[in-house]
Amino acid sequence: MTDLILRNTRLGGSLAGNGVDTVDIAIADGKIAEIAPAISSNAPSEDVGGRLVVAGFVDTHIHLDKSCILDRCRADGTLQEAIAEVAAAKRAFTEDDVYARGRRTLEKAIVQGTTRMRTHVEVDPRIGLRSFEAIRRLKKDYEWAIDLEICVFPQEGLLNDPGTEELLIRACERGADLIGGCPYTDSKPHGQIARIFEIARRFDIDIDFHLDFDIDASWMDLEEVCRQTKAHGYGGRVAIGHVTKLSALPPARLEETARRLADAGVAVTVLPATDLFLMGRAHDHNVPRGVAPAHKLLAHGVTCSLATNNVLNPFTPFGDCSLVRMANLYANAAQAGQPKQLSACLDMVTTLPAKLMNLKDYGIAVGNPADLVVLDNRDPAMAVAELSQPLFGLKRGRRSFSRSAPLLHPPG
Ligand SMILES: [Zn+2]
Repeated sequence: MTDLILRNTRLGGSLAGNGVDTVDIAIADGKIAEIAPAISSNAPSEDVGGRLVVAGFVDTHIHLDKSCILDRCRADGTLQEAIAEVAAAKRAFTEDDVYARGRRTLEKAIVQGTTRMRTHVEVDPRIGLRSFEAIRRLKKDYEWAIDLEICVFPQEGLLNDPGTEELLIRACERGADLIGGCPYTDSKPHGQIARIFEIARRFDIDIDFHLDFDIDASWMDLEEVCRQTKAHGYGGRVAIGHVTKLSALPPARLEETARRLADAGVAVTVLPATDLFLMGRAHDHNVPRGVAPAHKLLAHGVTCSLATNNVLNPFTPFGDCSLVRMANLYANAAQAGQPKQLSACLDMVTTLPAKLMNLKDYGIAVGNPADLVVLDNRDPAMAVAELSQPLFGLKRGRRSFSRSAPLLHPPG
């Protein structure tokens, strides 16, 4: 029994360029039942007028727990200051407070068309598991609209912060989906990387590090992460976020590093809003962009995503949770304006982050959940160039949000 047919949809990616122009998508029991031109059926249908349909945006890196705290913190600019400001504010976080702020941010992401998300949650002896428990509640309460994956991590260090490891392990026992790290705040960065791999292997979970978050290219933790990934047979299960040092590499070293990442199976998440806001603060003119060139890494086989990171806090005092906006911001900062590059930017907020997160059931294909988001454009590259808004979305076949298209009111 077909429940709904989305008619006249245009798909980016695999079907594009195969002589297929627009197709209908039939939905039954929350899943995609058929994809074909002009499906004949009496089931209810909705014509989307040849607009682009994606399987929803995928945000691989966002901090719901510390979003929306600008009223409690200064946002003056350096990474060290942002960490210190949030560390101070965090002590007063209650579970309900984290839930309320996280909900506000999560609802913004849902109406921007995000259907899958990995959120990073801080765990240490000051915050305990309060944020983790709040985000666990959010995950359950909003599963009708978004699949939320929880990555617990030690923002203020691990080996230098007694009690943190025990809490991370307790969170993993209580259902954290994966573990992260932040070696640059640790007294022993490589020691932290080793411990995180040990915990990940114990629970058989993936890893997502905050890494190499400055623009000094004279050293990188990336090499150690690649080495450990290979040593533990963890290729395809490790991601690293920021990696702004990559923006400071000349072409030959960038190529060599890209090949190393691809060979080890380590994926990269670029966080343009935060990276542009925090990097290069030592410069008072000719400020470097400090954004890792993700579109160049793709050419060497590195899996890359563009993600939100922080929203309305000292790390990033901006944010509407729109991944179309993030793709556009990246393309602009990275000077990636050709149609192929723009289209790759859309891939980096849809299919590629799904690959980074090892999502097995993402994508517009028969049998997958009917997660479908209609964008107000017909072309993937132009959707990024024009910041095309999502008009509505379905999660497992059920409408989860709608936005109205703007209307002009000419006189007369
Ligand atoms: Zn982050």
